Amino acid sequence: MSTQTRIPSLDLSGPVEALWPELTGATERVLRSAHYILGPEVAAFEREAAGFLGTRHAVACNSGTDALVLALRALGIGPGDEVITTPFTFFATPEAISNVGAQPVFVDIDPETFNLDPRLIDAAVTPRTRALLPVHLFGLPCEMAGVLGAAARHGLRVVEDCAQSFGARYHGKAAGTMGHAGCFSFFPTKNLSGFGDGGLVATDDEELAQGARMLRVHGSRKKYHNEKVGCNSRLDELQAALLRVKLPRVEAWNGARVRAARMYQDLLAGEERLVLPGICDGHVFNQYTVRVRRGAPDRDRVKARLLEEGIETNVYYPVPCHRLPVYGRSHAGVVCPRAERAAAEVLSLPFWPNMDGEVQAHVASTLRRILGEG
Ligand SMILES: *Cc1c(COP(=O)(O)O)cnc(C)c1O
Repeated sequence: MSTQTRIPSLDLSGPVEALWPELTGATERVLRSAHYILGPEVAAFEREAAGFLGTRHAVACNSGTDALVLALRALGIGPGDEVITTPFTFFATPEAISNVGAQPVFVDIDPETFNLDPRLIDAAVTPRTRALLPVHLFGLPCEMAGVLGAAARHGLRVVEDCAQSFGARYHGKAAGTMGHAGCFSFFPTKNLSGFGDGGLVATDDEELAQGARMLRVHGSRKKYHNEKVGCNSRLDELQAALLRVKLPRVEAWNGARVRAARMYQDLLAGEERLVLPGICDGHVFNQYTVRVRRGAPDRDRVKARLLEEGIETNVYYPVPCHRLPVYGRSHAGVVCPRAERAAAEVLSLPFWPNMDGEVQAHVASTLRRILGEG
C-alpha cells in the first residue's frame, strides 16, 4: 500500500453503495407520501426496533442526547436529584443530566472495560441519588449485574446510555433492556446509523413510554392540549424510512465489526507498548480503542505521527467529564484517576464494518513502526 494513501478514521460509504436501490426507494416513498413528521414510517420503525431489542415500547426522537433527556424527565428526575454516571463518556451523557436540572455524580471506571465500575457506586450514593446512568462505551456493555444490584439496594432508577451499543448483549440480554430505559443514538458514526440525527428510548414501562412520547411533542398527548413543558424532539419520516432499511442489517454489520476487531488483535498481538481491548461475547465494537502505555512515544505523539503517515485516528475522550471547564466549579474536588489515565492513553484506530484487511495490516504495521521510534 502506497504511503500516499490516506486512511480515514471512519468510512461510511459501504452501506450506502450496497443498499442504494433500497435507500433511494425508501426516500422516494416518503417524498411521495407527503407525510414527513411522526407518520407511518416512524411508527413502523418503533415497532421494528422494539422487536429487535425485545422491549415492549420504543419511542423515537431527535437524537441520542434527547433520548437521555426524555427518559430522565419521564422518570421524574430533576432539580435537587443526583444521578451517578461515568466520567469517561461523551459530554452528552452528563449534559442530559444537567439539562433536566439534576446533578451528575461521577464514579470512576474499571480500567479493563473503560466502563463505570459498579463496585464504586455504594460509596457515591447520597439521600439525593435518584438514578444510575451507565454507558456501554465503545460497544461493550457495562457490568450490569453490579449496576442493577446497586440500584436494587438503594432503590434507584437505571437509564442505560446505549448510544454506542445498538445490538450489544450482556449475558444474552440486549443493551438497553436491563434498566428502566435504554437510550440509543442513530448519529452517523453509531452502529445503527441514520443520515442525520436520530434517537430512541426503549423501555418495558408503559408510563415511561407515554411520558417520553408526550414530552417529545411539546408535552401534549392531544394536539393543542399541552399538559407539560416538553420540547420538539421528533424523528422525521425520512430518517425512519432509511433506518428501517438498515435495521435488518445491523447484526451482520456488528458481526463484521467483531471480525475486524479480531483481525487488529492478531495484527497487534505481542506489541508491549499497547494494551489491546478485550474481546468478549456481546461486544459490538463501535470503536476499536487501544491504550498507548505511558512512555516514549506518548499517545499524542503516536497520533500525530500516524497522521503524518496518512492515518487518521481519534481520541475518545481527551478530557474526562469531571475535568471539563463546564464542571470545573461544581466538580472541583472530584478525582477519578482511572478515567484521567484512560483519557491520556486511549487511541481509536481506523475502524468500520467490512474494512479491507490490507488497510488494517497497513495501519497495524505503521503503528508498530512508530511505537518503535521511541
Ligand atoms: C453519541 C453519543 C450520545 C449522543 O447522541 P446524539 O445522537 O449525538 O445526540 C450520547 N452518549 C454517548 C455515549 C454517545 O456516544
